[in-house]
Amino acid sequence: MNRRADYLVTEEEISLTRGPSGLGFNIIGRTDQQYVSNDSSIFISHIKENRAVALDGWLQEGDKICSVNGRDLKNLLHQDAIDLFRNAGYAVSMRVQHRLQLAKQYGPVYTLYLGSQTTVVLHGYEAAKEALIDQGDEFLGRAHIPIIDDTQRGYGLFFSNGDTWKQMRCFSLMTLRDFGMGKRSLEERIQEEAQFLVEELRKSEAQPFNPALTLSCATCNVICSILFNERFHYNDKTLHSLLDLLNKNFNRIYNLWPKLIKPLPGEHRALSKRLKGVHYFVLEKVKEHQKSLNHNNPRDYIDCFLSRMEQVLYMTSFPDTIFYQSMGMQESIITPSKVHEEIDRVIGHTRSPCMKDKMKLPYTEAVLHEIQRYITLIPSNLPHTVVRDTKVRQYVIPKLVAPVTFRHHHYDDLVRMLYKVHNECPHITRVYSVGRSVKGRHLYVLEFSDYPGIHEPLEPEVKYVGNMHGNEVLGRELLLQLSEFLCEEFRNRNQRIVRLVEDTRIHIMPSMNPDGYEVAAAAQERDISGYLVGRNNANGVDLNRNFPDLNTYIYYNEKNGGPNHHLPLPDNWKSQVEPETQAVIQWIRSFNFVLSANLHGGAVVANYPYDKSLEHRVRGFRRTANTPTPDDKLFQKLAKVYSYAHGWMHQGWNCGDYFPDGITNGASWYSLSKGMQDFNYLHTNCFEITLELSCDKFPLQEELQREWLGNREALIQFLEQVHQGIKGMVRDENYNNLADAVISVGGINHDVTSGAHGDYFRLLLPGTYTVTATAPGFDPETVSVTVGPAEPKLVNFQLKRSTSQAAPKRRIPNSGHRGRVLPKKVQPRAARKKEPMMKQPQRGPA
Ligand SMILES: [Zn+2]
Repeated sequence: MNRRADYLVTEEEISLTRGPSGLGFNIIGRTDQQYVSNDSSIFISHIKENRAVALDGWLQEGDKICSVNGRDLKNLLHQDAIDLFRNAGYAVSMRVQHRLQLAKQYGPVYTLYLGSQTTVVLHGYEAAKEALIDQGDEFLGRAHIPIIDDTQRGYGLFFSNGDTWKQMRCFSLMTLRDFGMGKRSLEERIQEEAQFLVEELRKSEAQPFNPALTLSCATCNVICSILFNERFHYNDKTLHSLLDLLNKNFNRIYNLWPKLIKPLPGEHRALSKRLKGVHYFVLEKVKEHQKSLNHNNPRDYIDCFLSRMEQVLYMTSFPDTIFYQSMGMQESIITPSKVHEEIDRVIGHTRSPCMKDKMKLPYTEAVLHEIQRYITLIPSNLPHTVVRDTKVRQYVIPKLVAPVTFRHHHYDDLVRMLYKVHNECPHITRVYSVGRSVKGRHLYVLEFSDYPGIHEPLEPEVKYVGNMHGNEVLGRELLLQLSEFLCEEFRNRNQRIVRLVEDTRIHIMPSMNPDGYEVAAAAQERDISGYLVGRNNANGVDLNRNFPDLNTYIYYNEKNGGPNHHLPLPDNWKSQVEPETQAVIQWIRSFNFVLSANLHGGAVVANYPYDKSLEHRVRGFRRTANTPTPDDKLFQKLAKVYSYAHGWMHQGWNCGDYFPDGITNGASWYSLSKGMQDFNYLHTNCFEITLELSCDKFPLQEELQREWLGNREALIQFLEQVHQGIKGMVRDENYNNLADAVISVGGINHDVTSGAHGDYFRLLLPGTYTVTATAPGFDPETVSVTVGPAEPKLVNFQLKRSTSQAAPKRRIPNSGHRGRVLPKKVQPRAARKKEPMMKQPQRGPA
């Protein structure tokens, strides 16, 4: 399908015996008249029947002949080449580049592995028409083109994908059509440029010259005129070098092995830089336009685009449009005298040709069509992808998991992605922000639930937090992938996902440190590989060392007695933590989260509490002391669910470290104070683990798909773990729900409480337990429960009011040892809960 797909070429040395009437083929191509642009080689133009070459059967028309009897054919004049063949003797050896005719062997639909890409080739008119025309909607997707994607990040008209592409295409068609009716039509702009082109051509003074660049500039100017209402001079150096760069072959190699080539020096870097240069150029133009924008009188595409942007918030860039439109004109067009005559006769010398003349120029039309049929307009065809599984002939072409989305997302991209998922699944999602970073970026959460925004009693809340360390970015991308996956599979009625969304309220925060991310990403783009660049927030604070230290209290209480859950915050906690930490603390206090994971990078292991070692660290010597929680067995199981559902985490050997089963107690790895997972366990009902997901903290974009496939099942299974153990309602005799009732399990020194709706959730491993519910002013109630491996067991409590007015004899952990253990008053949770938590940021210090 592609005449110049040079990676489908094999080179071979062949020997021929000359027949009585010669070798039997014609050749074409020479230095002064190239057969293929930028290539002055000799090609076989015709093979005569029943002669030596035809009988031999190996050579084909279009094959390139590199040498004859060891003599190189490069830069040879046509006649010299012919003479060389004539005098080559009886036995002729040739080195030939032979294009693989795969379609002959495999039929019109076949698969090709182009470097790291799997490509399906549709060969010939019939197959191409069947796919691209008859099933045009299915083939709307744009394939991944690494060198462009790396720079464009998925925007622009030609290389954007999915919805972005559809919207851009629709908008562009509409705008370009509207210009036909505007003050200065498209045609006028072309006519104007044609005058400049004629002027330029005149400068050649009838001497032969290569018009490719001039024609490119002209086409480019038409587009610039539409975009910016402005044209360039034909000698503009920036323009030349850009057109030149895109004409080179290196980008094809880059696209085959982007991962391999990206870190190497080479021209791909120059291209990236130049494309960025164009971005800045276009941005400057956009800024100029913004200043002088008049909605009622758009001058050009940018004006229209700006007007439109006020309705739809979309950012984009235009350079790809410029390049690829213009490249179609780069083949030199030889105008036969008959065309000239027709134009003279129909149009004459006094005016410019216009579209209306088309009808009266049948010969010229025919020549143009013939040229279009013959030349490849763009050096490589733009690959398509299918938007759903699509059948062509007897083959099913599977929908790729939208490869273009496997890229890193800056803050703006991330926000767009979240809203994109929300727009695709509006009935089961909600986007909300829990607060802002130091630099004012929102900490966004995407919620999945059959009733978004509402807590349904007995439906557990679970959360994922990614990118707390700004330079550990895999979790951020995985959570975006997960969001898309949940939405799409719900829409496809995947029963497992439907059930998960209907039975669970899932909160996904892809980035807890958006400021750090931008610093890390900028460093990455400049190839600064600082291990810690971007880890901290904008105030230089490590957010995973920024939560109030409750471990010190719990270790004291475990020894001496005292509350074993919901340890209170210090009075002045807000002034001690960063804005991001404060927002997250308020978030996790205002939802009754049951289960959580916090996604990091730099190792591959599932890490469970406690993170802070019970023993003190000795200076200069890292003590590793396993410091289990009362729920140690459960935490181990949660961590193992992840590591075993993960592609390779469970194998234990990763990134040069060994962790049996791919899990570790945090403190036994290294002690960490003021971390988020310990805080979740000690201050709320939430059981959180920390997932270290990649050796490389900022993996290459090309790794993302593999990582997603390695983590997908684990991310889903972990969410499903929230449905185990026991749950139920705590009510009084009149069926009023009791919030903040304490649920204790015999043998486990860590209680949980009922939420604001009176429902509680207690994760437990299978087994038989003694469970007690208590609430101030009520008699405790104790039951024996056997928990199975599957469904959570429903255990409701109906508490009777204490007959004695005094507090019940049984210790109520929250109020026990008040004032002795903790320097501040331990406020009962019930009292605290009356304040709407999400309103607190306005009252607290910034
Ligand atoms: Zn980390």
